[in-house]
Amino acid sequence: MAVQEIVNRAEEIEADIIAWRRDFHAHPELGFQEFRTARIVAETLTELGLEVVTGVGKTGVMAVIGEGTPVIGIRADMDALPIMEANEVEYVSQSPGVMHACGHDSHTAMLLGVARILATMPDRPPGQIRLFFQPCEETTDAEGKSGAQRMVEEGALDGVDHVIALHVASDLPAGKIIANAGPLTAAVDDFNATIIGKGCHGAHPDEGIDPIYLAAQVLNALHGIRARRINPIHPAVVTIGTIHGGAARNVIPDEVTISGTLRSYDPRIREQLRDEVERALGVARALGGDYNVEFIIGCPSVLNDAHVAEVMRAVATEVIGAENIIDHEPSMGGEDFSYMTNRAPGAMFLLGAKRDSVDRPHHNPLFDLDESVFKIGTSILTETTCRLLKEKA
Ligand SMILES: [Zn+2]
Ligand SMILES: [Zn+2]
Repeated sequence: MAVQEIVNRAEEIEADIIAWRRDFHAHPELGFQEFRTARIVAETLTELGLEVVTGVGKTGVMAVIGEGTPVIGIRADMDALPIMEANEVEYVSQSPGVMHACGHDSHTAMLLGVARILATMPDRPPGQIRLFFQPCEETTDAEGKSGAQRMVEEGALDGVDHVIALHVASDLPAGKIIANAGPLTAAVDDFNATIIGKGCHGAHPDEGIDPIYLAAQVLNALHGIRARRINPIHPAVVTIGTIHGGAARNVIPDEVTISGTLRSYDPRIREQLRDEVERALGVARALGGDYNVEFIIGCPSVLNDAHVAEVMRAVATEVIGAENIIDHEPSMGGEDFSYMTNRAPGAMFLLGAKRDSVDRPHHNPLFDLDESVFKIGTSILTETTCRLLKEKA
């Protein structure tokens, strides 16, 4: 099928893609609780005559089109967020306090559209296409594992040559895309630390070890990591998000707790950041106190494979024109698609979907999308898959 035919097919099924998205939007489900969404996805894929596996990575769904090799994977995420929707739209969330405020409803709907085009394509290139409808991108389960991580651990990516995905961007002009090679999102590690002193009367600080004073020195050292310890050409973030300690004006407490997040692209910098946090906390020991720290290791950085990103850009040039492909600065946000790109060279593109002049950021009660871009996302995913199959064959 020529690119134009794929674009025409996406236009033909646009109303269905929008209807699926609105249905998912009205019935959002939190991570690893995507039971209804997974059921509808599985039913829709089964109706297309596809082989469908449910319960992959807890609530994920996987479908296979074609057989043999090469194997190209396409991923969408299905989870919503614990946010109370503030939009007044006919498809508003029917679950108070839960909202598709990151656009994963649209990712799921577009991948269903891709499935329909590929499943019914008369001259589909030989090879296997694996569709991954993953649970829980936004958070992790009790064991600290996210949806993509669970699917990868269960072998869903075994044998996959390339994996691709898209993410809508509510702040990017509708119809523009970003598909750069290299880092797209950061590695995310969090930490919880306790600075331990010795409580005493506020009038006699010399009789204890003041953990609030220790914390003040530690904070300085933590904030100095980026400036004084990390190679300046490498991006890194150290953010302290919480600090708690003390209960009365005239009492020196026993301890102060702090927590924060560490962001980086390079795996060596990622490791160094954790070492440097330990070193900074060590200031508490130098001054007579103590500390303990626990690191919560999150997802790696999404590194777009140069070749796959190039294929995506070539396809996008034909679908929307070179003038609509824009360059970007990578984000220090996180995205668990990285567990998949760590297994198979792949890439994610960002699809601009700004709806109107209202500010509708991701993870915000006013988040919403321009639905007219869904056909673009569907076309680019479909044609990129076909090209990757052809060149690997
Ligand atoms: Zn999100
Ligand atoms: Zn997201």
